[in-house]
Amino acid sequence: MIVAIDGPAASGKGTIARRLAAHLGVAHLDTGLLYRATARAMIELGHRLDDIEHAVSAARGLALTDFDEALLRGREMGEAASVVAAIPAVREALIETQRRFARRQEGAVLDGRDIGTVICPDATVKIFVTAAPETRAQRRALELAGRGERVDYASVLEDIRKRDERDSGRASAPLKKAADAVELDTTQMDVEAAFAAALALVRAAAAKPV
Ligand code: C5P
Repeated sequence: MIVAIDGPAASGKGTIARRLAAHLGVAHLDTGLLYRATARAMIELGHRLDDIEHAVSAARGLALTDFDEALLRGREMGEAASVVAAIPAVREALIETQRRFARRQEGAVLDGRDIGTVICPDATVKIFVTAAPETRAQRRALELAGRGERVDYASVLEDIRKRDERDSGRASAPLKKAADAVELDTTQMDVEAAFAAALALVRAAAAKPV
């Protein structure tokens, strides 16, 4: 079974994906880390984020096992990731790694922006997680503060709006709900409620005859 979870920044998709994978006993890939790690490699090597050639080789050089989440999860890296993620050749370079991960026999949960539309169009279940931008900004501000970053709500909300616009407006694999995805609006849900709703969708999909 392949579970595809997509949605905008801080919608709750990562938490839902992680919880589902643990519950189902399958592996989870947070595909945002691939773009964050690509961006970080570019910054470390002193390249501009729009340097296509170096961005592609940074993406090709990634290993799924060496993500340093403490360095990648920060606010600056989310913004930089969305710049490299808009380069079609970078996306192309990362497709096979993601598809190979999804093909594992026991199944997998992947979360990102284009899992249901591009990476795994045949996923068993596709969930498009949304939430109001203000709610997402509150969640992200809390998360960043928990990581020790100095944040103010207004600028986090601005970041989220900017990232939504860039991710939805790009030509290559934009953030959008797959036609056969179910939308899960988590604005009024806590983590438990969102997980329970997602699990119900997975169970319903698994029970369906193919
Ligand atoms: O999900 P996360 O916030 O870690 O993603 C960082 C950025 O990586 C997103 O804003 C988006 O531009 C990009 N991304 C993407 N496709 C994915 C996952 C993330 O374009 N499948």
